[in-house]
Order: sequence, then C-alpha cells, then structure tokens
Amino acid sequence: MTSDLRDLYQELILDHGRHPRNSGKLAAATHHADGYNPLCGDKITLYLDVDGGKVRSASFEGQGCAISQASASLMTEGIKGKTVAEVLALFRKLTATVTGRDDDAALESSVELGKLAVFEGVRQYPMRVKCATLAWHTLRNALEGKDVEVAVTE
Ligand code: ZN
Repeated sequence: MTSDLRDLYQELILDHGRHPRNSGKLAAATHHADGYNPLCGDKITLYLDVDGGKVRSASFEGQGCAISQASASLMTEGIKGKTVAEVLALFRKLTATVTGRDDDAALESSVELGKLAVFEGVRQYPMRVKCATLAWHTLRNALEGKDVEVAVTE
C-alpha cells in the first residue's frame, strides 16, 4: 500500500470515528445486541431492522476509540439493503482480512469489501484488531438473536 493510500484510509477512519453515521437508537429494530471489547473499553449497541431476509436499516450507539466507532459507522452503512446471507459473508471476509488469519475460503470469496477495506491496515496492529471487529461480532450476535452482552474473545 502506498503512503498516500494509507493516509486516505486513515482519514476515512478518523472521519467516521469523529462523525459516526447511523448513530442512535433504531425505533423499528427487530434485532439488537450489545458488544464490549474489554481490551480497549469499546462498547456498542447495535440495532437492526431485518425484514424479508434483508437488512432494511441499521444503527448503533457506542463509545470507545476512533477505530471501534468508525468500524460500526462504516459497517452500518455497508450492510443496509443486503441480505442476511450477504451480511454474514461480509462478516467472514472482513474478520479474515482484519485478523490476517488463514481463512482461505473467506479471503478468496468474491465478496467485495468496498470502503471496509480501510480496516485491512489494522492487521499490523494486533492490539487494535478487536476494536475493528467488535461491531462485526456484535452484528453476528444480533442476527443470531443472542441478545446478551458478549465480550469479543477472538
Ligand atoms: Zn478500541
């Protein structure tokens, strides 16, 4: 990655960290879950409006570092209008990309990360990986109906 591109990515994360999109409670939520990253103190509550197998809307309330909030912000933008199956495929691709683990099936899938590719750089900072994946683990829990506070353990 060139340093220009890295700067651009950093800017996107900072922008979403400072000005989160889709922030607040979703009145029409059909699913929600709480997530907590004890390593950094990041917290988010995610709200989803899932109808007919599609994510109609998503929002979150949260506090924590810029990466965790930017991740939740970009995630809620990125999953709107997608089917639950597409969202779970995105979850696998994103977490495989950020952790840098050999999840070949996920890495080779044709799922496009789009803007979410900004989090690829987080791989170089193991302490921040949980900050970037918290929103995604919370998302999976919300979709699976696990309405409990779950600390990210991966
Ligand atoms: Zn954090």
